[in-house]
Amino acid sequence: MNIATRPSAPDIAGLDLEACSRGLFIGGAWLAGHGPHPIPVVDPSTEAVVAHVANADLTDAAAAVDAASKAAPGWAATAPRKRSEILRRCFELITERAEMLAKLISLENGKALRDARGEVAYAAEFFRWNAEEAVRIVGDFGLAPAGANRIIVEHHPIGICVLITPWNFPAAMATRKIAPALAAGCTVVLKPATETPLTAYALAALYKEAGVPDGVVNVITTSSPGPVVSAMLADRRVRKLSFTGSTSVGRTLLAEASKTVLSCSMELGGNAPLIVFDDADLDIAIEGAMVAKMRNAGEACTAANRLYVQSGIYDRFVAALTDRMEGLAIGPGTDPVTECGPMITAKAANKIDALVKDAVGRGAKVQCGGAKPAGIGFFYPPTVLTGVPADAEMTHEEIFGPVAAITRFDTEDEVIAKANDTEYGLAAYVFTKDIGRGLKVSRRIEAGMVALNRGLVSDPAAPFGGMKQSGLGREGGSHGVLEFTEPQYVAVTL
Ligand code: NAD
Repeated sequence: MNIATRPSAPDIAGLDLEACSRGLFIGGAWLAGHGPHPIPVVDPSTEAVVAHVANADLTDAAAAVDAASKAAPGWAATAPRKRSEILRRCFELITERAEMLAKLISLENGKALRDARGEVAYAAEFFRWNAEEAVRIVGDFGLAPAGANRIIVEHHPIGICVLITPWNFPAAMATRKIAPALAAGCTVVLKPATETPLTAYALAALYKEAGVPDGVVNVITTSSPGPVVSAMLADRRVRKLSFTGSTSVGRTLLAEASKTVLSCSMELGGNAPLIVFDDADLDIAIEGAMVAKMRNAGEACTAANRLYVQSGIYDRFVAALTDRMEGLAIGPGTDPVTECGPMITAKAANKIDALVKDAVGRGAKVQCGGAKPAGIGFFYPPTVLTGVPADAEMTHEEIFGPVAAITRFDTEDEVIAKANDTEYGLAAYVFTKDIGRGLKVSRRIEAGMVALNRGLVSDPAAPFGGMKQSGLGREGGSHGVLEFTEPQYVAVTL
């Protein structure tokens, strides 16, 4: 294990933390929350509290929905071209402030600065893409088959949207929802994760600067997400819930949303298989596996959770991957040399540790890493396990950390059955030089997204989302904006 500089004071030069913790962002103003106490924000590298943010209660949640409701008619009536230009300005400002935002993400989330820079570029792209989509939301017009009337279909803004995001991509998970919602003409209330609120507030200030009218985007943080979100979902003015987070919280929210028959988009957990066939290019497979496993130190819904490697390439793959994983520099996210930052919380690091212990107890072999280091910060070392049995907990649960769990396979049918033996269906990775075989295998895998001979699948121009219990709906591409519209059909005799 290669520990870079941990722990050390985070490099936060150029960050105005007070500006990100001025209060709840409601109706374009920074307001005090009425929750019981401010919410501390912890740097996972040093365990130090770096800021406090406001805590919303039910009255604040109602105020945020009021502000979104007041702004809704004006924003829906704003010309698509004007909305597009404002979204484009958001893209430009995020790009201009990229380094500041990346440092902020590294500070509160712990991810390596290079991952944070990648996230900011990805987050900005949702504004550029949706600025382009805002002027291309077209309907339909045609003659009814019986010939008696015309069918006109228009896509209206769906209405006020409640957006809930996780801590693992504090910028991108928010912009992936806000940008298409605004492109469609909707107003929103964002509730970011309590662990990483600073980025959401920094972005809120930037939207205002870009010309987003007051009340169109509102941001509230709370230490009581259950009651605060329930209250918003019960408000009949709210017409959409877009949630990214765990499958278990997703299930709870779907039940809540059923009370008002709310439109729901759900981006939930994953358990991605990564399959390496004997005929794969080893260098490409290793490079892809490193990205699929180690982007964000494994704290990604798309992270390769189960690595299935065919017998003929197995030994070479294990040796090369172990070599790469062992060489990674661990350290605070804000340190530019860091390649693997800490986990988000002590609880997260302990969960990974327990999953590794469970797998080893059932016969898996540790090639590198495998033990939680003592000391400050929520670190877990890059770990390679081989011979992970099918009954190990990590085969069925998200590891959400830097642990590569490798299993040997022999035949295509065998590996497809293993890959699909999960309630999840978000992402999958396939490595083979035979593109025809790669496409055939991709079709047989139950996953909303398949990366063929590459480790990165996310793209703002493509539909992101899962099958099975990984979610409902798609974000990005031309699908993303339509999730925030309601089609209306008019029958007219002309
Ligand atoms: P989480 O489900 O614990 O929390 C997500 C959000 O929901 C947070 O804002 C949290 O405060 C809020 N929340 C928690 N309990 C709630 C409740 N009872 N009512 C309303 N809101 C509530 O998830 P997390 O730990 O923040 O994120 C990790 C999970 O997110 C992983 O499962 C990961 O796979 C998933 N994820 C999915 C995608 C995707 O696009 N499919 C992307 C990123 C993360």
